Amino acid sequence: MIYIAKPSIGKEEKDAVLSVLDSGMITEGRVTKEFEKKFAEFVGSKFAVATDSGTSALHVSLLCHGIGKDDEVITTPFTFVASVNSIKFVGAKPVFVDINEDTFNIDPSLIEEKITDKTKAILPVHLYGNPCDMDRINEIAEKHNLVVIEDACQAHGSSVGVHNTGSVNTTCFSFHPTKNMTTVMGGMLTTNDEDISKLATKLKLCGESNFYYYDVLGYNYRMTNVNAAIGLEQLKKLPEFNRKRRENAKYLDENIKVKGIVLPKVDKNSKHVYHQYTVRVTNDCSKTRDEVIELLRSNGIFPQVYYPLSIHKQKLYEKDYNGESYPITERICNEVLSLPIHPNLTQEDLNKIVDVLNEIR
Ligand SMILES: *Cc1c(COP(=O)(O)O)cnc(C)c1O
Repeated sequence: MIYIAKPSIGKEEKDAVLSVLDSGMITEGRVTKEFEKKFAEFVGSKFAVATDSGTSALHVSLLCHGIGKDDEVITTPFTFVASVNSIKFVGAKPVFVDINEDTFNIDPSLIEEKITDKTKAILPVHLYGNPCDMDRINEIAEKHNLVVIEDACQAHGSSVGVHNTGSVNTTCFSFHPTKNMTTVMGGMLTTNDEDISKLATKLKLCGESNFYYYDVLGYNYRMTNVNAAIGLEQLKKLPEFNRKRRENAKYLDENIKVKGIVLPKVDKNSKHVYHQYTVRVTNDCSKTRDEVIELLRSNGIFPQVYYPLSIHKQKLYEKDYNGESYPITERICNEVLSLPIHPNLTQEDLNKIVDVLNEIR
C-alpha cells in the first residue's frame, strides 16, 4: 500500500518526548522557546512564536496586524479552509483572486483590481509547497500600503530567489502530521517585528501581561514542551525530508508520460518543497480523474484530491460569494490529483506509481 502521507517519527523524537515527560515540565516552556529559536534560525527570521496549530498561527497573525471588522483581506479560493476561516475569525472579509493554472497559486496580475479602500492585507498561500511570486506580491502590497501575511503551512523550507519563506513577512506554518515536518499538532508564526512577536506570544498565552494579570482578550494556543521536543528533532531532519521529496518529484517528472496528464510546473526562481506532487488530469486524457484514481487504488496506490471544491462554493461560504466566479479555480478543482511523494517512498514505490500511470493509453 502506498499512502499519500506517512509521518517519519524515529527514535530521536521518541527519546526527546520521554525526556520531556520525565522532566515533569510538560506544558509550554523551555523546550518550546528552544524550538522557536531554532525555527527562526532555520527560516532566517528574527522571531518565531510557536502555537498549537497552523490555524491558530494564522488567527494570531491577523490579530497582531490589527485586522478586524470591516477590513478586507485578499486571498485565494483554492486552499485549505483554514486560510479563509482565519480571516473570518477576526471579523474581516475574505476577498478572492483567481489562481494561475501552472502554479496553483494566487495570480498576482489579478490582485490590484480587487483592492479597495477597505483592503488591509494580502494573504497568499504557498500551495503544495510551491512558493508564490513574492516579489510581485510584496511590490503590490508596498504600493498600496497593505500588510502581507503568508500562509506557508505547506511550504517549510521553500524559497523564492534569495528569500527563504518566512524570512520577510509575518508567515504561518503548520506541523500537522501530513506536513513536511510535524509536532503531531502545532504551528509557528515568524516575523522580523519584535512588537508583533511580543503581541503574538501574549495572545497565545491567554492575553496575560503579568502572572494572572490580563489586558487583552487572549487565546489558549500554546505549544507544549512535548510537541516542541518532537519539532526540534523534526527540524533537524527537515532538509533531508525536503531533499527526498524533491528527488522523488524529479523522478516522477522525468518518468510519467501520459497524454493529458499535466505534471507540476515550477518557476526557475522558486524552490518547491513538494508538500504535494499535484498533476492535472485534463480532457485530453483518455481516462477521467475518477478513473485514474480507481486505477491507482486498485494497484494499492492512494492518491488524494486537494481540493475538490473551491472555498467560495463551500456551503459555509456560498451565500457570501453568490454569483462570483473564479473560472481557473473551478476548473482546476476538477482536474487536480496529488500523487504520493512523501520521503518514505522507496524506489519500488516510485516505479509502481510511474508504471501504473504509464499504462494509460
Ligand atoms: C494545514 C494547513 C493549515 C492549517 O494548519 P493546521 O495545523 O492543520 O491548523 C492552513 N493553511 C494551509 C494551506 C494548510 O495546508
